[in-house]
Amino acid sequence: MMHSPEPENYWRGVILFGRNSSTYKMALGKLLLGYSYSGLDRISLDDLASDFLSLYIERTENNHPQQGVMGRKTIVEHQIDLIRHGDRSFDSAVEVVKAQALSNMVLVKFNNLFGTKISKPFYSFTPGDSEITLNANLLRLSDSKIEKNSLESEILGRWDLLEHAYERTRIAPLSVDERMEYLINAEDRKVLTPLIPMIEGYQQGRCFYCGRPLYDIHVDHVIPFSAIHHNDVWNLVLAHAECNEQKSDSIPSKLFIDRLILRNEYYISSSHPLKDEIIRKTGNSSSMRKNEIYRQYRDAYQYKGRFWRGDPSYNPEEDKEFIYWIEYYAPKI
Ligand SMILES: [Zn+2]
Repeated sequence: MMHSPEPENYWRGVILFGRNSSTYKMALGKLLLGYSYSGLDRISLDDLASDFLSLYIERTENNHPQQGVMGRKTIVEHQIDLIRHGDRSFDSAVEVVKAQALSNMVLVKFNNLFGTKISKPFYSFTPGDSEITLNANLLRLSDSKIEKNSLESEILGRWDLLEHAYERTRIAPLSVDERMEYLINAEDRKVLTPLIPMIEGYQQGRCFYCGRPLYDIHVDHVIPFSAIHHNDVWNLVLAHAECNEQKSDSIPSKLFIDRLILRNEYYISSSHPLKDEIIRKTGNSSSMRKNEIYRQYRDAYQYKGRFWRGDPSYNPEEDKEFIYWIEYYAPKI
């Protein structure tokens, strides 16, 4: 029995999956959300191109790379350089962005998941059209229970991660971006909060322990920090403050360890920029990773010896999001 995916599942698939060669999908996603929240149902390519360029002008102020090939820039970055040097007007840059970045590139690619066109695309567009029509699927996102802020922050989190990953390809000797290294190795556990937007979408916006929508979010070590003494990202999840406090530094039941293993495989299959870090710390194959996580779990249990079974009212077998996660993504791993 397959749980049929909701628009937000497709949306998160498009935003979070795939080897992005540039950040274009993040920019388009952010703009599409904004249009749908404003109640628009169609937008001209001229307006879209102008908004797209403006968003990148803001975004590239810090000079973070927007694509992954060393020494190369995206068409949009190139146009922004010309504007900044006074060699091109904003309006003529908009024309180039429209023709070369939007029409034949990101607008054609966005409605795809795992290399296949999704059955309910978020907008209609055929190259040559002068506007895009926002579809019911996209408009339903703005009516859904998901908070506007969480979809937006997931896009921005993924965008940050892509920039970190692209920067890494430019600084060849570093295996992990310095900022990520800092986050991962931080002694102070509070420093982990910048990881929240990067993890949230991968949990479908749900608490790892009770499955309910997240608020008052804590970054939690599934195998407790006091037993494991590291901040490796494979062991970090998001939970409600109250669930985190209930669990405290007890060892969670094996159910949660299996869920953690699945979550990590999900990261790896989505080309999450922390993929290499998880593989480096836990192993090259899914069976190696599973054994390594079980090993650390057993060691921690011998050390702590105190179990936490989770909220008794929560049955993961009836958790729609969790079932979705397993049935839809796991077969592709
Ligand atoms: Zn919870």
